[in-house]
Amino acid sequence: MSDQAPKPQTAESVSSTRYLVGRLWHDAIRNYIGWVVLAVLCMSVMAGTNAFSAYLMKPIVDDVFVAKNEAMLWPVGLLVIGTFMIKGFANYSQSMLMNHVGLRIIADTQNRLFTHLAHMNLNFFHRNPTGTLISRFTLDIHQMKVAVSNGLTGFGKDLLSLIGLIGVMFYQDWQLAFASFFAFPVAIYPIVRIGRRMRKVTANTQVELGLFTTVLTQTFQGIRVVKAYGMQAYEASRIADVVERIYKLNMKAARTREISRPIMETLGGGAIFVVIVYGGSRVIAETTTAGAFFSFLTALLMAYEPMKRLAGLNASMQQGLAGAERLYQLLDQQPEITDKPNARDLGKVFGAVSFDDVTFAYSDEVKALSNVSISIPAGKTVALVGPSGAGKSTILNLIPRFYDVDAGSISIDSTDIRDATLDSLFGNIALVSQEIMLFDDTVSANIAYGKGGASQDEVEHAARHAAAHDFITELPDGYDTIVGEQGFKLSGGQRQRLAIARAMLKDAPVLLLDEATSALDTESERHIQAALYELMEGRTTVVIAHRLSTIIDADLIYVIDQGRIVEQGAHGELLARGGLYKKLYELQFNDELAAELAVVSQG
Ligand code: ATP
Repeated sequence: MSDQAPKPQTAESVSSTRYLVGRLWHDAIRNYIGWVVLAVLCMSVMAGTNAFSAYLMKPIVDDVFVAKNEAMLWPVGLLVIGTFMIKGFANYSQSMLMNHVGLRIIADTQNRLFTHLAHMNLNFFHRNPTGTLISRFTLDIHQMKVAVSNGLTGFGKDLLSLIGLIGVMFYQDWQLAFASFFAFPVAIYPIVRIGRRMRKVTANTQVELGLFTTVLTQTFQGIRVVKAYGMQAYEASRIADVVERIYKLNMKAARTREISRPIMETLGGGAIFVVIVYGGSRVIAETTTAGAFFSFLTALLMAYEPMKRLAGLNASMQQGLAGAERLYQLLDQQPEITDKPNARDLGKVFGAVSFDDVTFAYSDEVKALSNVSISIPAGKTVALVGPSGAGKSTILNLIPRFYDVDAGSISIDSTDIRDATLDSLFGNIALVSQEIMLFDDTVSANIAYGKGGASQDEVEHAARHAAAHDFITELPDGYDTIVGEQGFKLSGGQRQRLAIARAMLKDAPVLLLDEATSALDTESERHIQAALYELMEGRTTVVIAHRLSTIIDADLIYVIDQGRIVEQGAHGELLARGGLYKKLYELQFNDELAAELAVVSQG
């Protein structure tokens, strides 16, 4: 057994049935081979009992009914009960074993997919909408499981049953058997075609279902905006469009799948017709016995179900392979930003950060940063100021390597961040962004997100320093209060303080701070300001500054415009220079300044 996953050569071969089945075997089924073997054993017992029960028709008819042999009555009757009992138990066991294998494959694949995706870069998540990713976890994985269990059950239970029953037919009357099998080759062609069509229809349906989940997620997440702008009808019509497309695709899939039924029914009827006319004439001519004939007919009728399932198997396998194909496409994508082979652990850094002639573009068209050089000594605070779209967030995004620079380099304590392990880099950086991400968990768990295995004391300590302890203790369950999805049970200011507490707990030497733009009331603002000062204390801080006080207190201010650094210096110097900074300052802070001056003059 090779340990290597099958390697596709071309894009086309990646979607070939052979490649996908090979990959399913290698990635999913192989690990459970023991269980599968057991299940197949049970299936073969079931197939054997099936064939035997058809065979039993001969002694029942010939000995009991025709020869009226009373001595056979009980033994044959008991044999029938015994056979059906064994069949029942074998069926139960194979079904439980196959459920186990199928459900384990789902669980393993979901875990594997999540671990894989959690390591993908931000770019990947920009390219793949959430809904699409979620539907990979649910629909595609489920379909893959269906393909695996239907495939195994089809080949194990149905094929073996069919072989057994056909064996009985040939045993009882081989000439009749040949005559009734004329239908087989005729049936193969439409079945293969139906399978191919099914795969295409399923692929289209999955794309639409992904879109459906995305639209639903966005609408529910943004329900406040939807309501505020009275856009319910618009959203409903957007959803209705997708729903309609899904309906049509599902109908097409149903038509494609169900078309095999009339084909199979007609062929089945034809076979029975041949058996009755030809077989009946042979019984009348006494070439064969009535018992053999009925045993044959029973085997044929019993063969009908597994045959029908096998006919539909290709279609359902193709459906599942379409799911598997999409899963493997995701699993095969590698993160672009990874540890170099000889990447080194940074340990705990002092926190000197420098950008050396950095150029970066999100896509080929427009540069987000051009020749940016920034130098921040350990423990100092640098404020980034500039108009919207200037590139401030981009600078912040490059430090934890959410993206890699196109030219130039970024270093921490003189180590190029590309030479460090990602884990040790992240370990040295705390990020407090405007969009505060809170999980639907307790306050404690949300703060403890900053440091794996933090104790309750550490959490409370961090909360006190983030001016959050008092409001937390006033919550209904204190630190055990569930904050709701995205922290909707908390105010904006409270959410910010939890984010600050989380960063405080992490206690990383480098702090990336994107100050919130939304104005809070003075009380809240005062709390947050105090918490931020605590947090910034002794750390290298790069802050996208929106508050006048943060800017004035910064050790150095960089003014960014259109991806370039246009000015740098301290607040006073920059104001005196009368450039972009002064303009921005007057635009943004005139009111704030007037208020401060008023306070000063009153004082
Ligand atoms: P703001 O103050 O409005 O947040 P900013 O100064 O932080 O703006 P950035 O977010 O760094 O600006 O954006 C710099 C440029 O990069 C902008 O032109 C923006 O359109 C572009 N940009 C930002 N993020 C992406 C992305 N994920 N993909 C493509 N372009 C992006």
